Amino acid sequence: MLETENVSVFYGRHHALEKASIKVDRGEIVVMLGANGAGKSTFLRAIAGVTPAMEGSVVRMDGDDITHRPPYEIVEAGIALVPEDRGIFADLTVEENLFLGANPKRARAYEAENLDKVFSLFPKLAERRTQAVHTMSGGERQMVAIGRAMMSHPTILMLDEPSLGLSPLLSKELFQSLTVIKDTGVGIFLVEQNAKQSLAIADRGYLLDNGHITGADTAHALANDQQVIKAYLGGAEAKATTGAPAAFPTEDRAAGIDSPHAITAGNRAGLRQRTNDIIPFSISELVDGASAVQSAHFNSGRVEGVGAPPPPTNGGSHKSQPSAPLDTGSSVGRSSELQQMLAEMEAAAANALNPRGGETS
Ligand code: ATP
Repeated sequence: MLETENVSVFYGRHHALEKASIKVDRGEIVVMLGANGAGKSTFLRAIAGVTPAMEGSVVRMDGDDITHRPPYEIVEAGIALVPEDRGIFADLTVEENLFLGANPKRARAYEAENLDKVFSLFPKLAERRTQAVHTMSGGERQMVAIGRAMMSHPTILMLDEPSLGLSPLLSKELFQSLTVIKDTGVGIFLVEQNAKQSLAIADRGYLLDNGHITGADTAHALANDQQVIKAYLGGAEAKATTGAPAAFPTEDRAAGIDSPHAITAGNRAGLRQRTNDIIPFSISELVDGASAVQSAHFNSGRVEGVGAPPPPTNGGSHKSQPSAPLDTGSSVGRSSELQQMLAEMEAAAANALNPRGGETS
């Protein structure tokens, strides 16, 4: 069993986590819900030994005090962390990433067995075992990250917002795979903003607010608690009386989000998903494109591209290309394209905020 008592973390003078005490047993799923900046990642990192915990903090694994031990010893004690950024090696293949996870002594004898388990849990990874991870989708990368953690033969698997950036359907599949892991006897501690889906698979839950644990109960009780519904489920109660806008996706309504532009804890992944649909460029591609224009102006007065990284034939080193590359043309033409693109982005954003078209309220 993983147990923490009074775990506190300061960043300089900022008290990010104050006396957090939890328990996670083998074969159960425990979720910690909290808004942005509540201290969820800090807590996981403190347990994993990545972020130092204050004096007085205690972390125990199966009764052994593992507080302040280095991260590799925490892994040897049976605790694996899937961090928010997934922490996988994008240039390595699926299989190479997975084998890296089997490096701890505790895992070496189980390497083949664990690889089979990971491949049966995520058959897609077996199909793509030799594929470089940077060519894979967000959902597939999350599978690699979880698979790699499973290769360390953990007793407790900790996951930092595994549903982040995934569509509701993919998150649902991912959460279902966590129940399969739980059934093998592994304890799962996940921190999430996706309250609806995580509470649906969890046995118990904690609420974290501003560095403090403010509640703890069974997942069922939390899912039906009015405060939790208000704070983490997007005001599902209000929605039941007012109804949701007709243009709003049914799956999001089912997930308890009552408006396409509601800034709720549970709506973050959905918002990102819709933004990707509206604007076919990532922010980094837009920034790369704008930088290319600027440096071309400075260096030679010649422009290599706008909105897209320079193509490789022009010496560009960017790996990714936008899904709809912009025309090439004169620097003046491209600057006006950038203007036009920004105008289109603004129009798309306005349209997203007002799906009924043109009306403002
Ligand atoms: P999110 O859901 O956005 O990831 P979180 O609940 O995981 O949020 P943390 O990342 O743990 O929150 O951050 C808790 C607080 O500590 C925030 O105010 C954050 O700005 C701050 N913080 C986190 N890491 C550091 C750091 N390395 N240095 C200073 N402050 C930090």
